Amino acid sequence: MKLYNSATRSKDEFVPNDPEMVHMYTCGPTVYHYAHIGNLRSYIMEDILDKYLRYAGYNVNRVMNITDVGHLASDADTGEDKMLKGAKREKKSVLEIAKYYTDAFFDDCGKLNIRTPDVVEPATECIPEYIQIIETLIEKGFAYVAGGNVYFDASKLDKYYIFNDFDVEDLDVGVREGVLEDENKRNRNDFVLWFTKSKFEDQALKWDSPWGEGYPGWHIECSGISMKHCGEYLDIHCGGVDNAFPHHTNEIAQSEAYLGHKWCNFWMHVHHLNINSGKMSKSSGEFLTVSLLEEKGYNPIAYRFFCLQSHYRKNLVFSWENLDNATLAYDKLIARIAGLKGEPKIVDEAAFAELKGRFTDALDNDLNTSLAVTALYDVLKYKTDDSTKLYLLGDFDRVLGLNLLNAAKALNEANAETDKSCESDPEIEKLILQRAEAKKEKNWALADKIRDDLKAQGITLIDSKDGTTWCRE
Ligand code: AMP
Ligand code: ZN
Repeated sequence: MKLYNSATRSKDEFVPNDPEMVHMYTCGPTVYHYAHIGNLRSYIMEDILDKYLRYAGYNVNRVMNITDVGHLASDADTGEDKMLKGAKREKKSVLEIAKYYTDAFFDDCGKLNIRTPDVVEPATECIPEYIQIIETLIEKGFAYVAGGNVYFDASKLDKYYIFNDFDVEDLDVGVREGVLEDENKRNRNDFVLWFTKSKFEDQALKWDSPWGEGYPGWHIECSGISMKHCGEYLDIHCGGVDNAFPHHTNEIAQSEAYLGHKWCNFWMHVHHLNINSGKMSKSSGEFLTVSLLEEKGYNPIAYRFFCLQSHYRKNLVFSWENLDNATLAYDKLIARIAGLKGEPKIVDEAAFAELKGRFTDALDNDLNTSLAVTALYDVLKYKTDDSTKLYLLGDFDRVLGLNLLNAAKALNEANAETDKSCESDPEIEKLILQRAEAKKEKNWALADKIRDDLKAQGITLIDSKDGTTWCRE
């Protein structure tokens, strides 16, 4: 399997450190607001990677943090704490906010068929781990105390790593002009490991530390949580592309300085979901949630389908029209699957091998989900029996998570219900015939009367090019 690695800027063959277990870490949500569908694009694509690794036969230990402390309004360590901001907005405590939005996040993930990672760790649960790492960094000369805070000293590194294969606008996040410089920093790229003092109102939650009562910086939480649950060697680290700099850069700096060796082999970055007016973000602009999609009558799985139709390393533009098109395509796909008869079973081995090969070729090539979706249509078109087709569709859906077989079954059941309510009745059939005759003779009054009389008895006539059927309301 080849995966694009932002660290090497090439598609590299994926080989885990330990053939028995892939350790995969995902930057989790900052739980001060609902996740927007842009955030969820990242989680959908990371879910595909997680599921495809399992499908390919790997054991996976997937870890995700919940950022409930330390993420300031600016990714460059300035501004108010985002959690405190959320708490103020809603007049609740930080912990109440964290609980509420963590639950909301996993509800949304459930609706989008995003599997919950094996380990979900709130940042506030690992304070001793961060303190231990920071102490070691100070001992090794990679960190210093200034103005009450502890900073990582980026100048001590041979190389301060920057993923630079994406837009300048993404890189700007940490070094934007106009951002208030923190005069405690010795170098521009230094970052906070532990805060005891901030120019802004402090985070409500604080812990004792060797440097005074305070709270951890945002970056240290991902290194600490990852090492706690994945050990010293990480196979894949994922996040949205905006996390690449400064967050992931700083994670690499502090983890490798602490460990004294290379930390993570693969970096997977999901590009943004944009709206016409720009990037979707929690702090500004239009903010679309899964609940909003549902209120507007959309099936959240149609949004997942929409995301899978494009590659994760390309920006994706969201519009209602695009979502309508995806919904239409998804509903058609389900209707076609509903037309297949029989039970899922491999009857035609050759067809199975050929079609499965197309699917795995697509995903082995840097998770090309749009080609994997095309493989679904290939199955439907292929000259083979329905049982093999159903088996393949169910098999592919272990990765794609589109509810294909269940949705098709539900559609068939709903259609059977409709059919049931249209039983035969010789009296009604006779009236339908009379109405057809009346229409032929252009006796519209009689035709309408027959229809209206039936309507009054709760019977609706349905005219189509194939004739007239009826339903009891
Ligand atoms: P946050 O909750 O803000 O920490 O973000 C959660 C995840 O969503 C991170 O991996 C971000 O990089 C990612 N993300 C943020 N905005 C977008 C967007 N517009 N499109 C895709 N992913 C995003
Ligand atoms: Zn992170």
